[in-house]
Amino acid sequence: MKNQQITIAIDGPSGAGKSTIAKRLAVELGIAYLDTGAMYRAVGLKAHELSIDFSDISAIEMMLEATEVDVVYKDGIQQILLDGKDVSVRIREHFVSKLASDISAIPCVRIWLVERQRKVASVDGCVLDGRDIGTYVLPNASFKFFLTASLKVRAKRRFDELIAKGMSADISKIESDIAQRDHNDSTRDFAPLKKADDAIEVDSSNLGIDEVVEVMLKKVKSKR
Ligand code: C5P
Repeated sequence: MKNQQITIAIDGPSGAGKSTIAKRLAVELGIAYLDTGAMYRAVGLKAHELSIDFSDISAIEMMLEATEVDVVYKDGIQQILLDGKDVSVRIREHFVSKLASDISAIPCVRIWLVERQRKVASVDGCVLDGRDIGTYVLPNASFKFFLTASLKVRAKRRFDELIAKGMSADISKIESDIAQRDHNDSTRDFAPLKKADDAIEVDSSNLGIDEVVEVMLKKVKSKR
């Protein structure tokens, strides 16, 4: 299989390191990378800025009709454009995580975004990270990984990330927010967070980034 035809799904709970690993894997294989969580974040942010009540499904549907979410690359760095405006930094603010989790439970939002995600994946080889890639977005992905880590480790990583970006953070709040998001994501009715039966589980609690990438690359290369 040529790299350009490979699709790799990386799912798992919040803060397991999916984006970092997916980005690295994409570079190693010379294929594209799509951060699907960023798309939910952008849509959640827009609904919030328009003061839309998330239980008002027709208002959400109307908003989607007038929304564009694009993922572009500038100097090798992924940018998320919401209606043409770069929101890459804004969507990483802590409060947006909850907005993304809440809006992601709405079926019309998922259907709308999944259509865009499948389009990106169909053009070239691609690594996609999210919650439902292996189970719903790309059930026939060439490779599926389910990346996990203990709640404590995930909270500490998210805390370090925010501090490194100069943002303020409270580790116990991050831990309870992550636990709440895991619960929301895995108990929603439509395309919940779930390990696909044929996904390879990788626990990164005691592994560094390089080690996780190596484990995944080995699997990919062994089957080609
Ligand atoms: O991965 P990230 O933490 O940026 O995702 C934000 C939120 O978007 C998740 O908590 C989840 O609720 C939602 N999401 C999803 N399906 C995906 C990717 C993200 O439901 N494929």
